[in-house]
Amino acid sequence: MERLQRSLNYNTWMIEIESFTSPFELQATGLSSNLCLSKVPRDVISKYEVEAVNAEETVEALMKRKISDGQVLENEFFYIINLNTIVKKFEEWESALPRVKPFFAMKCNPNIAIIRTLASLGANFDCASKTEIQTILGCGVSSKRIIYANPCKMVSHIQYAKASNVEMMTFDNAAELTKIAEVYPEAKLVLRIITDDSQSICRFSTKFGAPLDKCPSLLALAKDLGLNVMGVSFHVGSGCMNPQSFCSAIKNAHAIFKKAEEYGFNMTLLDLGGGWPGTGYEGISFSEVAEAIRPLIDELFPENIEVIAEPGRYFVAQSHTLAVNVYAKREVVHNGEKSFLYYINDGVYQSFNCIIFDHYSPKPLILNSANDRTELYRATIFGPTCDSMDCVNKDILMPEVEVGDWLYFRNMGAYSVAAASPFNGFKSCPTLFYIH
Ligand code: PLP
Repeated sequence: MERLQRSLNYNTWMIEIESFTSPFELQATGLSSNLCLSKVPRDVISKYEVEAVNAEETVEALMKRKISDGQVLENEFFYIINLNTIVKKFEEWESALPRVKPFFAMKCNPNIAIIRTLASLGANFDCASKTEIQTILGCGVSSKRIIYANPCKMVSHIQYAKASNVEMMTFDNAAELTKIAEVYPEAKLVLRIITDDSQSICRFSTKFGAPLDKCPSLLALAKDLGLNVMGVSFHVGSGCMNPQSFCSAIKNAHAIFKKAEEYGFNMTLLDLGGGWPGTGYEGISFSEVAEAIRPLIDELFPENIEVIAEPGRYFVAQSHTLAVNVYAKREVVHNGEKSFLYYINDGVYQSFNCIIFDHYSPKPLILNSANDRTELYRATIFGPTCDSMDCVNKDILMPEVEVGDWLYFRNMGAYSVAAASPFNGFKSCPTLFYIH
């Protein structure tokens, strides 16, 4: 029962949120116990049973302890979520980019414990839908700390934004302006411009962003409709590998700022979007991007211009370690060579949807094995559904493991559990163990 309570069903967020009755404490809380140095808020620590772990206990040792203590069953995959990683990321952001206010792109991982931790640190939020706005407001965060950063919005969602006083929203086309003029003419509008996203793993410019040559006509239309354009945004694409993509987008944003001022708009906001590295293993580090853009922002945008960004994976990618169980195994011999097919209890329809949607290449590590073999064999690792596409690793080399052994995957916090489905009757809501 206790174990079940720890597992967060992502379809029941609203119920979870409603159970927070007191207004959100925005400051990190001090406790008289050994938790007093934690910047994770007190209500998160108690509600999610966040365990203060000894610095010497590795995540691997912790996962083994959870298994040996009987806190998980073999049919449950589970995550260790280190909220301290998120605190550190926030601090790193503040020191590298003190002028840029982060608005966490919650689509990346809408876990309430993470949202409340980030909110208590002072982060703001990027929402893309009515439900995401409801989630943030339900966490006691002010509507002033939300940007509705979806350039193509449903009318009912715009109405909800208006009713809940979410003022800032993006647009990138004429039809959107007409809609906003009818539903929410007082909104503070941010023009999302197209970027060169060729250096990014997930590209967005085929779907979003106004081409630069179309911006003057959009600004003219906004003026005719009596709308309030106050900023420019962009998104260089998720998993951006080159700081120059940010630099050229900032220069383009500056040019559109000037154009908007010519149309009489009072421009006060630059939004640098998402695309920030999450792990440092992507071939580019956050500090490289920060170093490249900091002087450019100061050069082009005076101090009175508010600068924000919408980091998603940056905050959460490293915070999650996923443990999965090998529940079936098949030996194959082809041309005299032995190889193995393994079946694990989490797959492409659940956490590993990031392989398809986020182009992620998860690397399996062996947590505990019934044997200590070191000889390597070709192996393919499948998820639990009856779909052959449900393949997590194809033809990799690894030591032989047995049914009942556990594998684990690092850096699983971004775009993983957020889009998990219960397809084929397999569990999509993992057991989550929080630590700090
Ligand atoms: N902002 C918007 C509008 C997005 O669509 C996304 C991701 O899809 C993000 C921010 C977050 O991007 P990332 O996780 O690469 O930082």
